[in-house]
Amino acid sequence: MIIENFPASIEQLNRKLSPCTVCPFKCGTDRYSDNGGRCKTGSILKIASHNLHHGEEPPISGSRGSGTIFFSGCSLRCAFCQNYPISQLLNGNEVTISKLSEYMLSLQTRGAHNINLVSPTHFVPQIVEALWLAVKKGLKIPIVYNSGGYDDIEVLKCLEGIVDIYLPDMKYGDNKNALKYSGAKNYVEINRAAIGEMYRQAGELVTDKDGAALKGLIIRHLVLPGNISNTEKVLEFIANLSKTIPVSLMSQYFPAHRAGSMPELQRKLRREEYLSALHALDDLGLVNGWTQPV
Ligand code: SF4
Repeated sequence: MIIENFPASIEQLNRKLSPCTVCPFKCGTDRYSDNGGRCKTGSILKIASHNLHHGEEPPISGSRGSGTIFFSGCSLRCAFCQNYPISQLLNGNEVTISKLSEYMLSLQTRGAHNINLVSPTHFVPQIVEALWLAVKKGLKIPIVYNSGGYDDIEVLKCLEGIVDIYLPDMKYGDNKNALKYSGAKNYVEINRAAIGEMYRQAGELVTDKDGAALKGLIIRHLVLPGNISNTEKVLEFIANLSKTIPVSLMSQYFPAHRAGSMPELQRKLRREEYLSALHALDDLGLVNGWTQPV
């Protein structure tokens, strides 16, 4: 963490709240007076939970757990979102920036390996201000930015030296499906630019002697039924960036949220679909990461 980077980043990020250009949708609303943007949030932070979490990838959870903070709301509209009560229905409680900084410090006191910001994209300005307050009071564990991967590159540049570990999704390798199933235009180009910037900042995964992450990039990819995720294209991009980036290749898809009303999303993943994703991983020489049961 580079302490000197905070004040300039906070100033730049706060300017992006009105008109709002905090995420690639660039709605242009005034977040101080309006929560009518696509993410349905204003300037007040809303969080669904803050707790130690043991179910993340091993270097993130470590032995003591990841200090996970779930933010309410999301600008993506994934039809199959498994967290839709939080992301779409905005379940959660409003908190002040100062309260969020206290939660961060309390997670550190409880032994968290890191502060894991889940769905942070639409609240980046407020989060960085909370981090700054917490850092001044002794927060020193790594910061994890855990997003859907649809992040604005100029916003990400403001996180240089502040975020230590990037944990983004690469959801799609095809814009048509990204638009249809998540409502995101140009997802592929925006996502790839974001991943490139994250890799430039954080580089390869570095862990401590016990295997807990200190810095780096880990990419998550959920394999969708019927190859809606276009998995091979996603993995090809990662392999071209670096064959040693850890990939968390997930088979855990189940029809949640609006997926039940879409015939192509109404079933779990078939064994052969996940096997084909595993073969692509092998064929491309992606040597690091985690897979799930077939
Ligand atoms: S953060 Fe919210 S209001 Fe701002 S551009 Fe994105 S969706 Fe729109």
